[in-house]
Amino acid sequence: MKSMRAAVVESFGADLNVTDRRVPTPERGQALVKLIASGVCHTDLHAAQGDWPVRPTPPFVPGHEGVGIVEEIGEGVEDLEVGDMVGNAWLWSACGTCQHCRTGWETLCESQVNGGYSTDGSFGEYMIVDAAYAPRIPEGSDPHEIAPVLCAGVTVYKGLKMTGVRPGQWVVISGVGGLGHIAVQYAVAMGMRVIAVDVADDKLALAERHGAELTYNAMGRDPAQEIQEAVGGTHGVLVTAVHPSAFGQAIGMTRRGGTIVFNGLPPGDFPAPIFEIVLKGLTIRGSIVGTRQDMVEALDFYARGTIRPTFTRRRLDDVNAVLDEMEHGKIEGRVVIDYTEEA
Ligand code: NAD
Ligand code: ZN
Ligand code: ZN
Repeated sequence: MKSMRAAVVESFGADLNVTDRRVPTPERGQALVKLIASGVCHTDLHAAQGDWPVRPTPPFVPGHEGVGIVEEIGEGVEDLEVGDMVGNAWLWSACGTCQHCRTGWETLCESQVNGGYSTDGSFGEYMIVDAAYAPRIPEGSDPHEIAPVLCAGVTVYKGLKMTGVRPGQWVVISGVGGLGHIAVQYAVAMGMRVIAVDVADDKLALAERHGAELTYNAMGRDPAQEIQEAVGGTHGVLVTAVHPSAFGQAIGMTRRGGTIVFNGLPPGDFPAPIFEIVLKGLTIRGSIVGTRQDMVEALDFYARGTIRPTFTRRRLDDVNAVLDEMEHGKIEGRVVIDYTEEA
């Protein structure tokens, strides 16, 4: 039996156990991938803490920003070869036949499988992918640098599209963490004018380096009024923050007719002022990752050099320290687990 190192959630709220596990065998339609890199998403922290209404079932291996090399293919796989570089994703697979899948909304499929949540993910030296859904990594990519695009990147790229903000119009990126710092870059690349909001000045400095024109610190306060005074409110807001207060504040930041897209998933609720939403004609919508086509587009922005994740390499053994730093807002951009020998 071949074994590997993997970080396993054995019970919610406890440290992940970095331990030996059996290397899985690819079944029909699947491939076995040897990991090179994996981003650490805040969703992995929600998964390990079990703080969402729909919980995964321990023991499981988190991680859905994995990049690696196909080492073995299962029966019936014709469009992947040993040696190809592929990734995993939150949308690990979907049914392909339901109404949502048929109409280009596979991200809403009720039979979808989620990487690192309902099937084992990329916090291990090997992972299984579904050949029909595994993102293909563009040639010439740096596997560590591109890893965050597989969830953070595609999620905010899709989220920005859902705001309907056009070139030359204003968008707020609320929360400048793993998702938000890439959102600033996609928004700039898409011709939008960017305002960044976070509760930490170092995150706002990162947003400025990536092209935000105005920044506001929301620690203990609501910058909505200042944003109204500065630009007359924004056409769109993309909320990637991990605190519910940012969701309510988004309503006050928007100009009449604007659209607010929620990407962030902190457990909880926020008060929504009905009068303001109705009179301003606001649209508030959720957005979950992106389809395979959104993924191709999101990866292409990276391949063309228009977006570039800010990241720090760490070892799998550090995963608990990384999650602790994430919980306390201490990470700049993304942390990417490095599985290569030389690190
Ligand atoms: P992260 O920890 O890297 O970043 C979160 C950021 O929010 C930090 O910069 C933090 O300072 C900031 N923040 C905290 N409180 C805030 C406040 N009140 N106002 C403004 N900013 C605030 O997390 P991440 O990996 O970027 O993920 C963010 C959220 O998005 C998580 O809840 C995650 O589960 C969710 N997520 C959703 C999708 C989706 O498809 N919808 C995909 C990936 C992640
Ligand atoms: Zn994610
Ligand atoms: Zn489906």
